[in-house]
Amino acid sequence: MKTMKGTSILCWTLLASAALVRAPVTLGAGPPPPVAGRAASGPPAITVNSTEDEIRNAVAVVRAGRKLTPARWPNNARVVVCFTVDVDNESLDRNNPLPVPLSNGEYGAITALPRILAMLDREQVPATFFIPAMSAILHPEMIPAIQKSGRNEIGLHGWVHEYWPRDTVDPAVEEQVINKTIAYLTRITGKRPIGVRAPSSALTVNSIAILKKEGFLYDSSMEARDEPYEINSYGKPTGMIEIPMMNILNDFRYYGGDTDGFLMSPDLLYQIYKAEFDGAYAEGSMVSVMLHPHVSGHRSRIAQVEKFIDYMKSKPGVWFATMGEVASYVKRNSGQDP
Ligand SMILES: [Zn+2]
Repeated sequence: MKTMKGTSILCWTLLASAALVRAPVTLGAGPPPPVAGRAASGPPAITVNSTEDEIRNAVAVVRAGRKLTPARWPNNARVVVCFTVDVDNESLDRNNPLPVPLSNGEYGAITALPRILAMLDREQVPATFFIPAMSAILHPEMIPAIQKSGRNEIGLHGWVHEYWPRDTVDPAVEEQVINKTIAYLTRITGKRPIGVRAPSSALTVNSIAILKKEGFLYDSSMEARDEPYEINSYGKPTGMIEIPMMNILNDFRYYGGDTDGFLMSPDLLYQIYKAEFDGAYAEGSMVSVMLHPHVSGHRSRIAQVEKFIDYMKSKPGVWFATMGEVASYVKRNSGQDP
């Protein structure tokens, strides 16, 4: 099991529940074990003795606010489609950096990412790349490759794909690490990032406030709605926008970190992609796809992603956009500036 090799630090939050099923394993950079009577970071745990107010308050620090899907997407498009690529590569093996699991991450950088970029270029479709600084440190050539088309966005995804609720529990440390990462990404990309997906999609109770303070426009770590929404704290808008990730369209969930997932046929994932898109198209909302180079960059899998893009292109009124473009658009067109 890849957990023993430290390669199972997934980019989706449900690893915590999976880990409970698979225990005992060494989780590496995964979620910390629960602390009796108290969450690892944040408000007190909810127990059978919690009052109604305590239950409400325990969840209130970050909640979904109002929907931000505008009446019309640009050019009267019916639906917006965001492809995101979490460029985790070797960062998933940082706790046990041995040659074989590292080669799986290296595959993401040197084999899979070029394949994904070539596919996006063929289709003329943009994507948002959430990149841990560590991935860029090891493979600096990825940055100009991603920027070459001029369509793509680069967002923040941690320094070494650290797990914020455990590795940066102290808000001062969290802010310091986030600032270090912003400075690095700004230097290597020439542009300050406006969006973030927390490593493993794991925000602390302090993260949204820190990200707002540092000027981020949007987060993409949560999924309370499957369309853009305002992020509230204790009932009030924070000013941060959520462009949700969608775990149902997260490749890691089906394929695993290498080829250790349960899904043997990429065509089955295509069927889920297609059904989610058809629903979003009918609703007039959005689709958010999460790819990892070392997961979806295999030949058989990226072919299904391209088939999915071709299917969407067969419909009128589909806007392919980066998450930053979507966040900027909903900020301008949602009735009031959030
Ligand atoms: Zn990640």
